[in-house]
Formats: sequence, C-alpha cells, structure tokens
Amino acid sequence: MGPPAQTNDDSASWADVNSTAQLGSVIDQLHSCWQQWASSGTDQTVVQAPPEHSGRDGTFKVTFNLTLTTILLSPLQASSQIYFGSVNEQTCAASRPFIEPATAVKMASIPQLLMEEVQPALTTSGSKVTVVGVGQVGMACAFSLLTQHICSELALVDVVPDKLRGEMMDLQHGLTFLRNVKIEASTDYAASAGSRLCIVTAGARQKEGESRLSLVQRNVDIYKGIIPNLVKHSPNCILLIVSNPVDILTYVAWKLSGLPKNRVIGSGTNLDSSRFRFHLSQKLNVAPSSCHGWIIGEHGDSSVPVWSGVNIAGVRLRDLNPLIGTPEDPDKYNEMHRDVVNSAYEVIRLKGYTSWAIGTSCAILARSILSNERSIYAVTTTIKGYHTIDKDVFLSLPVVLGENGVTHVIKQTLTQEEINQLKKSADTLWDVQAGIQF
Ligand code: NAD
Repeated sequence: MGPPAQTNDDSASWADVNSTAQLGSVIDQLHSCWQQWASSGTDQTVVQAPPEHSGRDGTFKVTFNLTLTTILLSPLQASSQIYFGSVNEQTCAASRPFIEPATAVKMASIPQLLMEEVQPALTTSGSKVTVVGVGQVGMACAFSLLTQHICSELALVDVVPDKLRGEMMDLQHGLTFLRNVKIEASTDYAASAGSRLCIVTAGARQKEGESRLSLVQRNVDIYKGIIPNLVKHSPNCILLIVSNPVDILTYVAWKLSGLPKNRVIGSGTNLDSSRFRFHLSQKLNVAPSSCHGWIIGEHGDSSVPVWSGVNIAGVRLRDLNPLIGTPEDPDKYNEMHRDVVNSAYEVIRLKGYTSWAIGTSCAILARSILSNERSIYAVTTTIKGYHTIDKDVFLSLPVVLGENGVTHVIKQTLTQEEINQLKKSADTLWDVQAGIQF
C-alpha cells in the first residue's frame, strides 16, 4: 500500500478538533498512516520515524521525519488553524502528497468559540514606557508605574536575559491585582519601539562612600550603547535619566540623542526635595505633601536648599525665623539639608542601594508627562540663562512637565546667597563635563 493520493482541496476534508480527546484520535490516525506507509515496501526510505506529537495550553505539534524534511502541523497561532508547513517550499511540496487529507486538522480555538471579533484590537496604547536597567532602581520605577497605573505598556531592557525574564514574569503574575499592562522584556531595543517615555537606570551604582561624580566615565561608556538605540526605536520619546551622576548623564544623554533639550530630563532633585519635605514634616508633624520646599542644583553634594521659599500653607518659615537654614539658626533647621545630602549615603550604607523613593519619584514625573498634567517638579534640565548662569550645564530647577517634556522653567526669586550656591554647583559640573570622553 502506497502513500495516500494528493488532494487539492485540503479544507474540505479537514477535521475539526475541539478537544484534547479529538486531538488524540487524530494522532492515532497519523500513527496508523505511518504504519501503512512503513509496511508498504515502496516508501521505506521515505518514512523514517513515526509521528511525534506534543501539546499543551491549546497548542500542539505533530512531526513527521521524512527523508527530505520535517513536516510541522503547528504550533497553533492566534487563528488556531493548523497548517502544513515545512522547512522550505520545495520540501513542503514534495512532502504534501504523503499526508492523508483526513488527518489534516483544523482547530476551532477557545477565543474563536468565546467571542466574535468586531475590530482587530490595536497593538499600541500610546502610553508606553521603557525602563532600561532592571536593577534595584529600574524595578522600583517599574513597580511604581504599575501600582500607580501610569502606563499601559511597559518594556524592560537590560543586558542580563535571565534577570529580565524573571523580573518580567514576577510583575506579570501580579497583574490580576492591578490594571492590565502589556509587559515585555528583552535585551533587544526593538522591544522599546514606540515608547513615549524612556527611563534610563542602567549603569554602575555608587559604592559605599563613593561620590556620584566619580561614577561618571563608567556610566558615560554604558550610555553610548543605550541612548542611540532608544532614540532609533522611539524617535519621539522623552528621555528621563536616572543613573548617576544624573545631571552629567542628562547632559551626556542630550548630546548622544540629538533630541531637543525639552525632551531630555533627569530625575534631578525631585528626590532631594522629597527628602527635604519629609524632614520638615517630621519636625512640624504635618504631612510631607503639605510642607513646601525646594532643593535645586546638583542631585548630590552641592545641592541648594531654597530656604527663602520654604512655607506651610503660604506662611514662609523665614518670616517666622529669619535665621532659618543658616548656621546660626538656634532651631538647627540647617541640619535638615545636611541630612538630605547624607541620606543617600546612609541608605546605601544600611541596605546597599536606594530604590523605593527614586522609584516613586520617577513614577510621578512619568505621570505628569504621560497625562500632560503640567505639574511642577525639580528636574535636571538645561539651566543656561537662568540665575545668571552662562554655562551649558544641566542642573535641577522647578519646571512644568507635560506631554512634550519641559514646557516652562519657574523663575524662582532666589536670594543672592542661593544664586551663588547654584553657580558653584554649575562650576563643579562644568569642570566634570570638560573631562568626559565621548
Ligand atoms: P543595579 O546594579 O541594581 O542595576 C543596574 C542595572 O543596569 C543592572 O540590572 C545591569 O544589568 C544594568 N546594566 C548595566 N549595563 C547595562 C547596559 N549597557 N545596558 C542595559 N542595562 C545595563 O543598580 P541600581 O541600584 O539599580 O542603580 C542604577 C543607577 O541608578 C546607578 O547609577 C545609581 O547610582 C543610580 N541611582 C540614581 C538615583 C537618582 O536619584 N538619580 C537614585 C538611586 C540610584
């Protein structure tokens, strides 16, 4: 008995398979077919092995090993229609006659049985965020984005595939308790395509006692491989830089990206300001969100507390205590800024890294951008031309953040002392920038 004759009408004789039991019967037919072919004597050399099959989760695979090719009836894709495939067109054509039409399979999938398509679903949402670097900071950002329902697509990119996949799966398994977000993870920047916001946390982190500025060239080199790739796949994105030294790296990212300055920002002193407001809240026993104060300048050792504007419900604390924030202040409020500067070092000493506060800080910046909220935050931006600074450096000032990034810089009324401190910060960064090798 030779192989069955070829048919030109596959679909007419396809069997419907709606259950595993039916699938089993199809597999049995394939086996019996193979036995017939194998015993026919005419095609012994053609059929080399019995069909194998495997299947789970509504997909299955049936494989014939023939001399010329492997015929795959699988895997089931969205259409759930099994088709005969082959390693190439030629072998496909050669092997097709050996398939008995009755064994060809068409499977009505559960989605097809469950619902009728009215319109194909859109594949993008318009609020996609990419996080580069799935270390402590990147994952705190990702987690904050998810729990605050800020994006509807999240791409994770890193250089460590297992960590990426593990983090992606771990986040996905919590989606039942959150709003649905499409989460993907890859070492390939193609996964970031179409992002409106790219948050870059990749890079080396400070070691215990290490200043942020000493990290600089190590992270510049890492950025050379990251920023051009992000912009290539998402030319309209906004870049939010987090890796340290964040101010310098925001400048570096702007240089490497070719994007306009309003679309390249750094997480800057939004975190420092939050730490400052927390310390105020502890001193005054009111909520941090009700304590209004700004830290500007460098995210780091030379940051500037704007004591002249610190207020609670519009009441300026300096009007109550003219020495507030100065070394002569009897209430020692000035120690608060020292605590802000030291707090990152202290947290790193205690737990090895900082994560939760920077994660929530980045999420709130993302929210303002993605929903065109126009909230004001202290972020790293170009400060040339403000407060008499004439150098092309990036430092933090309060800005209005919307869909196209920074739309306005707030012109704070600073004291001369505060301006001097800001200029000193700018000089320090200018010197570091000069040593960067692109
Ligand atoms: P981490 O070591 O836990 O994670 C860094 C991640 O970057 C790792 O997963 C690593 O695989 C990845 N990475 C390294 N090179 C990469 C590359 N070329 N491409 C893609 N991914 C790459 O570090 P962390 O604690 O998450 O800190 C990350 C950065 O954030 C550090 O520079 C740290 O100083 C900075 N940070 C900034 C702030 C801030 O306020 N701006 C706060 C905390 C930490």
